Amino acid sequence: MPHPLLSVEDVSKTYDGFKAISNLTFYLYEGELRTVIGPNGAGKSTFFDLITGRAQPDKGKIDFGSATARSHDLTSLSEYEINRLGIGRKFQTPSVYSEHSVWENLVLSLRGPRGIFASLFHRLSSTERDRLDDLLKLIRLDAKREWKAGLLAHGEKQWLEIGMLLAQDPKVLLVDEPAAGMTDEETHRTGELLLSLAGRHSLIVVEHDMTFVRQIAREGQVTVLHQGSVLCEGKFDEVQSNPKVREVYLGRGKQ
Ligand code: ADP
Ligand code: MG
Repeated sequence: MPHPLLSVEDVSKTYDGFKAISNLTFYLYEGELRTVIGPNGAGKSTFFDLITGRAQPDKGKIDFGSATARSHDLTSLSEYEINRLGIGRKFQTPSVYSEHSVWENLVLSLRGPRGIFASLFHRLSSTERDRLDDLLKLIRLDAKREWKAGLLAHGEKQWLEIGMLLAQDPKVLLVDEPAAGMTDEETHRTGELLLSLAGRHSLIVVEHDMTFVRQIAREGQVTVLHQGSVLCEGKFDEVQSNPKVREVYLGRGKQ
């Protein structure tokens, strides 16, 4: 069995007596693209809150580290420290610097302790410049590098934000409902982008759109969350035909 990169074991989180996450156990392996689905309120975003240190579990373990790198107990670290270890998160709504250009948004996201002004006036090394150029192509915004980010279409803002996350070169990317509000074509492109990141990065993608889930989960595993626990895990087809899943999720017309 390979060593998991991220181990979440028997984790619970209660809000005002309500168990948002309940005895959740989950492993993510290096280079994998894992899709997480589940009805509204299943605990998907809370799961990300716990991994990223935005919320602390009431009990359980969350460890991050590969077979070769030292393991870290994430429950004892701050949001900032967890991010610095290489876990990046993309929230559902894009948050780009609207008044800055696409290129500047990427520059501002480079790792480093610089403030906004220092970042913008700092001379990039040619390696940094090449890397950002490649990133621009990857997120398909090279033709719009001088555009103010605020003028981009919704889907393009989402891609820019994925680019901003990638500028930090995270080991793990947590992506929450990236296809929400996108056109079918944008959704498909987003799927291609995320698929192209697997291998070099490890990803957990939370999503509702089943066409999109089918696209990105063609090789990987799908985890179904229900009432804060794992209801089932497997290939897309196995999960889709699982009667328990159909009952709590697919059967409700959430396709
Ligand atoms: P999902 O992302 O799967 O739709 P969430 O993780 O957002 O679900 O929410 C799971 C449950 O936890 C919901 O009932 C929600 O109201 C509750 N919850 C999440 N975060 C908080 C919070 N910060 N305070 C109180 N309740 C919360
Ligand atoms: Mg959510």
